[in-house]
Amino acid sequence: MFFKKKYCPTCKKHDQLYRRLDVKERAVVEERHRGQTDLWRCTAEGCRWYQPWSHQRGGAKLPEDFKNPAPDAAGK
Ligand SMILES: [Zn+2]
Repeated sequence: MFFKKKYCPTCKKHDQLYRRLDVKERAVVEERHRGQTDLWRCTAEGCRWYQPWSHQRGGAKLPEDFKNPAPDAAGK
């Protein structure tokens, strides 16, 4: 895993944990970011923000289906 701390414009918070997009997520944004693998998403609850690592303006929100679940929803 490649967690790092970064600003998230959706959460409006600094030091958010990001991780690389997984295979499914990357498939969704493939058309917009063809061949680009340096894509990361915020892991905060309810957040769908993703972006190229060093290019915030190149980011966007993932579809609703990829919204991060609440922490206590995982085991239910
Ligand atoms: Zn976020």
